[in-house]
Amino acid sequence: MEISFEKEIQQLRLGSGATFHGEGILAITKALLESGVAYIGGYQGAPVSHLLDVMVQAKDLVGELGVHVEACSNEASAAAMLGASIHYPLRGAVTWKSIVGTNVAADALANLASPGVTGGVLMVIGEDYGEGASVVQERTHAYAMKSGLILFDPRPDLQNMVDMVKHAFRMSEESNMPAMMELRIRACHLRGSFVCSDNRKSSVSALTPLAEPARFDYSRLAHPPSTFRHEKLKVEQRIPAARNYLIAQQLNELRDGRHAQLGIIVQGGVSPALLRALQEFGMADAFGHSDVPLLILNVTYPLAHEQIAAFASGKDALLIVEEGSPEYIEHEIASVLRRAGLPTALHGKDMVPATGELTPEAMLQGLAQFFERHAPAIDVQPVRAQLEATAARRQQLSAQLQRAPGTAISAPALPARPPGFCIGCPERPVFSALTLAQQDIGPVHVAADIGCHSFATFEPFSIGHSILGYGMSLASRAGVSPMMQPRVLSIMGDGGFWHNGLLTGVQSALFNGDDAVLLIFKNGYTSATGTQEIISTPGKLSKSTAHDKTASLTASDRTIEDTLAGIGVQWLRTVHSYRVSTMRRVLREALTTDFKGLKVIVAEGECQLERQRRLRPWLEALLARGERAVRVKYGVDEDVCNGDHACMRLSGCPTLTLKDNPDPLKVDPVATVNDGCVGCGLCGENAHAATLCPSFYRAEVIRNPRWRERFVDALRGAALRLLRPA
Ligand code: SF4
Ligand code: SF4
Repeated sequence: MEISFEKEIQQLRLGSGATFHGEGILAITKALLESGVAYIGGYQGAPVSHLLDVMVQAKDLVGELGVHVEACSNEASAAAMLGASIHYPLRGAVTWKSIVGTNVAADALANLASPGVTGGVLMVIGEDYGEGASVVQERTHAYAMKSGLILFDPRPDLQNMVDMVKHAFRMSEESNMPAMMELRIRACHLRGSFVCSDNRKSSVSALTPLAEPARFDYSRLAHPPSTFRHEKLKVEQRIPAARNYLIAQQLNELRDGRHAQLGIIVQGGVSPALLRALQEFGMADAFGHSDVPLLILNVTYPLAHEQIAAFASGKDALLIVEEGSPEYIEHEIASVLRRAGLPTALHGKDMVPATGELTPEAMLQGLAQFFERHAPAIDVQPVRAQLEATAARRQQLSAQLQRAPGTAISAPALPARPPGFCIGCPERPVFSALTLAQQDIGPVHVAADIGCHSFATFEPFSIGHSILGYGMSLASRAGVSPMMQPRVLSIMGDGGFWHNGLLTGVQSALFNGDDAVLLIFKNGYTSATGTQEIISTPGKLSKSTAHDKTASLTASDRTIEDTLAGIGVQWLRTVHSYRVSTMRRVLREALTTDFKGLKVIVAEGECQLERQRRLRPWLEALLARGERAVRVKYGVDEDVCNGDHACMRLSGCPTLTLKDNPDPLKVDPVATVNDGCVGCGLCGENAHAATLCPSFYRAEVIRNPRWRERFVDALRGAALRLLRPA
């Protein structure tokens, strides 16, 4: 990983009384150090990647504190680390992206929660939900309920988040329950400040290791009959202890308001959006005061039933503002009210949207409905008028976009802007080759996977029939390929291969003797999560000397190939990603050969994002020293381009775009390459592989040229001037 977190690491060193300024996720990282954790692990993923990325780079700091940092191979291995806390008074923290990561970790989590913990345990979970999310839309809350985990959902304010981390460890120790803290995308990237405490060394750590193991204790094993006792302990002791702690420490926030007959209970993470929505009714201010009494849940599981009942008591109506479905909190509160015999009317998903992110705008309708029903004196008309005006404006804009002005021709709405491959990405040429290979042998079913290569599901490629989980493509094919005449192609990245694919896919396909084809993108990093290094990332030396695209990963790391050969893969080809014709031929061969076992193609080409991060400073340094620097760029001869745009349909590179045709007799715009081109060579490769028009050229832009190059350039210039018509 090439991004430097030097500045952030300095912030993590701040001592008592100093003020930390920065992002939410880094504040959480600092809070872990102030809580005296003995170990930190995890698997990267948005929006919590920075926690682990920073820790991996902060070698000196973690060494001084004796904190062990483990970049785990997947979320299951991160969750399994927490098993240390079952016997020992060690505080530990791990992190991953939820819901997908929690799904992977679920087995270890259940087996951790059953015996319970001794040292405090905290899982920092990136709740990737709502606008900008990249995973299936489900709630981590379900795991907290089923396994008996404390779930924090802190109000996003840096001081509050830091305080909640410290409470999470103490609450975990008092209740023996592992704790989770869900952080939404906005909470992780929120910027603010808080007053620091000193970092704490754990009494047991890598600096002061335990002298001997714990005594054997069968009751701490998640094995029957111990598990039957664990179940009772959860219900009869641990959850009540957690409730006692959260009430004693007042972790949930009660805010009075003048409309005492009403009440709103809201998840901490959603509370700023709620307050912003209440502002639209003139019922809240920017400092968090509200005219409606609020109960802000910094802890959403377990709920303190006495606290809920006390809040509801004497009120006409409660509104539960809970993001996502199912409405677990609302259901539990309904039971609390019923058992307490309270007549308070309960609203939630009957008024607040059941799906999608709860933005302030999404809540306005529900709040207006709630106030109209239970507080008719509150004037909701201005908000209703505002909602109607917004709806009308949206409709008007949509109508304008449907009909181009002054014509009867309908224009499409604004085009969607899905994410795509980076400029020069080594995965794009492989999908060009796959498109061409399918022209030769017909369409194939493609089992896609998580990773940058999933961008191929967008245009112009539109490749991929299913995505079943990270590293799961080969396994998911097992139910399809036996029933399909043409061979099925499974695609995964090297990140997915090490995360899960080797065991769930390759091992299973070999064991069953499956006739399967696997394409592995070996770009050297777990790119989609922030280009973290993996076991097959090439060594520093080969990377630092690789300035040529063909030299980047060649003769570098063979861990994937060696592993595949070692486990018994007999049909194995490594092809450079940018060699479109070769890749087309090898894909064709894999999909049609008489060989019946597992066939694996390794597409080798370094992640362009990572490559550019390395090359740009190197080029800048050359220029600063006044040395010669060459940049390769591709271009299109506009006089030759015939305007059919086949090159674009085969590439999708954002720098290969359109411009007006300079020929006044032609109306079709011509292709052009803008200045963002990184000279990956795909344009040239595609032109040859697909026999496109000969309009592409390769240019070398030379800065600080040598005298011979200046001389040749002057000669060429003079010759051109002579040939130019007067
Ligand atoms: S991060 Fe790397 S692998 Fe991912 S799209 Fe960009 S260049 Fe391709
Ligand atoms: S050579 Fe073509 S595909 Fe590669 S970066 Fe330039 S325009 Fe894009």
